[in-house]
Parts: sequence; structure tokens; C-alpha cells
Amino acid sequence: MMLLRRFEIHQPSNVAEAVQMGAHFGEQASLYAGGTELLLAMKHDVLRYKHLIDVKVIPGLEAIELRDGMIRVGATATHRSIERSALLRSRLPVFTKMESLVANVRVRNTGTLGGNLCFAEPHSDPATLLLVLGASVAVEGPQGRREILMDDFFAGPYETRLAPNEMMTAIQIPLPSGRWRSAYVKFQVHERPMLGLALALETTEDGETFSRARVAVGCVSPCPQRSAAAESLLTGPRPEIERNLPLAAEALADSAELIDDQQGSAEYKRHLIRVFLRRAFVKALEGS
Ligand SMILES: Cc1cc2nc3c(=O)[nH]c(=O)nc-3n(C[C@H](O)[C@H](O)[C@H](O)COP(=O)(O)OP(=O)(O)OC[C@H]3O[C@@H](n4cnc5c(N)ncnc54)[C@H](O)[C@@H]3O)c2cc1C
Repeated sequence: MMLLRRFEIHQPSNVAEAVQMGAHFGEQASLYAGGTELLLAMKHDVLRYKHLIDVKVIPGLEAIELRDGMIRVGATATHRSIERSALLRSRLPVFTKMESLVANVRVRNTGTLGGNLCFAEPHSDPATLLLVLGASVAVEGPQGRREILMDDFFAGPYETRLAPNEMMTAIQIPLPSGRWRSAYVKFQVHERPMLGLALALETTEDGETFSRARVAVGCVSPCPQRSAAAESLLTGPRPEIERNLPLAAEALADSAELIDDQQGSAEYKRHLIRVFLRRAFVKALEGS
């Protein structure tokens, strides 16, 4: 039988207080948002904490707003609130569509975007898409505030570049101009996705050339990865890019350091990347 050990919950009234509490309790404490990962790990006795600092109660930390040309999603916004946000649906529909496919409605109702990213579980959908959207995260800790690009955020599976007692306060996504076309596609058999692939292409005015490209693959390796080589192969006149798709898929697979695991062999994942890059390309250009 799985049993939770005893712990105490603390409810800070603002971010500074949460950071102070973390520094005070040290390794005996963890930040706690929806608890969908944390409580499970504690039930399995993989993680042990005597103190949980509940960041969900911090007023305003769940807000989703447009600020200085950026979408700012508060760290405690739940997947469900992102999926249902009218602002995001109209300004960044690729993000709400991705969120609507995360887990199940029970997990989406409770789980937060901040918790998803900070846990750095390799099978994350938002992490892969946020990479191609050029997102960054705002964090606050004992040394003050700073921003970390999503490109630099993950240090390995279940490992981020957050310093001890630093907490994430928001995820910031630059609003793409009307010339960006983007798509997120995923493949899932079990509880968590087996592959997630995100593509964003900037078209010229006539729509016939891609002036910039961003592509990332996730879930198939320890961390989601972009590939500069694949992005270069996806930049140029449209017919050439269509021909380059298999080469770009190979480059993306090479950069992802594919691993054999219970979800499939590295070779199988390479095949999936080929199939899903083409799907993402078609989906991104639908209606353009
Ligand atoms: C059955 C199931 C299916 C799932 N399927 C998917 C899926 O298809 N796709 C997908 O992407 N994800 C999936 N997930 C993962 C899910 O998205 C995460 O569990 C959820 O978003 C985590 O958020 P949380 O608020 O519950 O985090 P918590 O469990 O509260 O916290 C997780 C970790 O993040 C830390 N943390 C939380 N908030 C902060 C913060 N603001 N600053 C610093 N550290 C913080 C905590 O200390 C803890 O270490 C699934 C999970 C489950 C249980």
C-alpha cells in the first residue's frame, strides 16, 4: 500500500515569502503547486519532504495576460485554464490546442504549467512547444529575479537550471507576427506522450519562402531538443523545403540523442520523427 509520510503545508502570501520559506527549511522543503507529480513521488517514497510550500495560494501567480508584446502565463496557471483562456485561444491557438491534449481533464484541472516545466519530466508536451515559440521563464530566488531562456532551462531529465530555492514565477512567450505558422503534433500510446514535435516557420509576404524556421522534438530523449542543422534545412523556398523534410528529420533525430527505452527503440523513434515532421509541416501550413 502507498502511504504518504507526514508533512506540513505552508501557505506564503507572496513570492518573496515563498522563497524565504524555502531558504529557511532547506532540503526538508519543496515547492508544491498542483501536486500531480510531487505527491505521487512522495507516495512512492522517491521524494521525502517534511514541509511543502504551497505556491498555488499566492495571489495573481495564476494570471494569463498580454504585457509588452509578450504573453505572460503565471507559473501556477493550470493546463485547463490555459486551454480555456480566451486570450491564448485568439493570440496563440497552437498553445491552447497543445494544452488540450495534455494528460486527462483531471490532471489538467490540477496540474500547472510551472510544475510541468520545473519537474522536467522528459515526456512533457509544453516544454517542446515552448522551445520553438522562443519562450523564457521568469524566476525569483534569494539572489533576486532573473530570466532563463527555455533553450537553457533543462539540464537533464528531472533537472533544471533553477538555483536552490529559486522559484518560477511566469512563462513569457513573445507574440509571433502574422507570418509565423506553427504546429505541435504528438504520438501517444500509454499514459505519457512518446513523441512531441513542434515546428514554427516564418513565411515571406508571398508565402512562398520560409525566412526562419524553428523545430524541436521532445519525449524521445532526456530533454527536448532543437536542431540548428534541421532549422537551416527548413529555411528557403517552399518546394526546396518540402524536398528537404527527410534530411531535416534525420538532423533532428541526430541532435536528439535518441535512446532505447520501454517506449521503443531509437530506430523506431527516428522513424516517428520522419513521419511527424511531415505531419507538422502540413499542419503548420494548413489554411495559409
Ligand atoms: C496521469 C498523468 C498523465 C500525464 N500526462 C501528461 C502529458 O500527456 N503531457 C504532459 O506534458 N504532461 C503530462 N503529465 C504531467 C503533468 O503535466 C504534470 O504532472 C503537471 O503539470 C505538474 O504540475 P503540478 O502543478 O501538479 O506540479 P507539482 O507536482 O506540484 O510539482 C512538480 C515539481 O515542480 C516543482 N514546482 C512546482 N511549481 C514550481 C514553481 N512555480 N517554481 C519552482 N518549482 C516548482 C515542485 O517543487 C515539484 O518538484 C501527466 C501527469 C500525470 C499524473
